[in-house]
Amino acid sequence: MSKTVSALIVAAGRGTRAGAGLPKQYRPLQGKPVLRHTLSALLAHKNIRDIQVVIHPDDVALYEAAVAGLPRLLPPVFGGNTRSVSVLNGLEALAKDAPEIVLIHDAARPFLPLGIIDNLLAALHSTKGAFPALPVVDALWHGDQGKAISPHSRANLYRAQTPQAFDFKTIINAHYTATDPADDDVALARAHGIEVAIVEGDERNYKLTTQADFARAEREMQMDIRTGNGFDVHAFTEGNTVILCGLKIPHSHALLGHSDADVAMHAITDALFGAIAEGDIGQWFPPSEAEWKGAASDIFLLKAVERVAARGFTICNIDCTIICEAPKIGPHAATMRAEIARLTGITLDRVSVKATTSEKLGFTGRKEGIAAMATATLVKL
Ligand code: MG
Repeated sequence: MSKTVSALIVAAGRGTRAGAGLPKQYRPLQGKPVLRHTLSALLAHKNIRDIQVVIHPDDVALYEAAVAGLPRLLPPVFGGNTRSVSVLNGLEALAKDAPEIVLIHDAARPFLPLGIIDNLLAALHSTKGAFPALPVVDALWHGDQGKAISPHSRANLYRAQTPQAFDFKTIINAHYTATDPADDDVALARAHGIEVAIVEGDERNYKLTTQADFARAEREMQMDIRTGNGFDVHAFTEGNTVILCGLKIPHSHALLGHSDADVAMHAITDALFGAIAEGDIGQWFPPSEAEWKGAASDIFLLKAVERVAARGFTICNIDCTIICEAPKIGPHAATMRAEIARLTGITLDRVSVKATTSEKLGFTGRKEGIAAMATATLVKL
């Protein structure tokens, strides 16, 4: 059975360096307070039983507004004059129904990846403490008044992040027996001779401190996700081959069209044009222009792919459904997926081609033609 885990957020600071006239943990980021983002990141991990937040007495209204509706939050407690006192207040509140493990996290690190929590919990199988950190990769220098003095080795140096994870009893006892103030809980644990493991941190888990950090966060959070759909129909005509997703399939008929009548590729192409709101195949390649007569439809799809890239989007996935009684699509679906993946430059696991009949109803049921529909999802990070 996995151990019980609580999180403790120290949000009692008054830091207003980041601007907006609010303590930074309450400053809005994409319209929501930083603290709410941080809590949501922790709550996304299934092992977090509950969260204790330590706040400043002046911030009760700000806190209540920031956390409205969030689950698994214990009533807030007030912090003290130092970080250490604030942490102890939070630990004592948690002690009423003590967890086995506590994760002590900065309120101003809202982008905590869940994998860090996994790594910390795994590390605590064999130690009483662990924290995430990244090796220092930049050269380090001692300097004085804007002049370089001497280089400093970066060997064995790490940039610490949070959460700092501890066996609950171990860390609360360390606080009770502490004589000297410690910078943080890892320092406190080390002062008590407690072994603390370093697990791999993540660049995304940065701390919001300055105005520039907030500007970076706003920029990075502007993820733009688009969905587009496409639908197309082509009628059967005399012939012995249909072309679907670029694949020639022997059949009793061919499909009628100005181009090669690849109904599936047309639907996919329109889904991409739709997602970026740039019209459709007919607008980009007018049937009235002789140039496109009999054209292989990959030129249409490649144009849509080019436009998607030009707009700064990446294709997340494509899903296409072909509607017909015959030919059978199943035996060819893998080859079709591979061709669409090749043309769009995405991996095979992001391309789906499937088929259905219309139960002999309607024009597809009467084998008068083939219909296809497609959905595409795009993202701009
Ligand atoms: Mg068409």
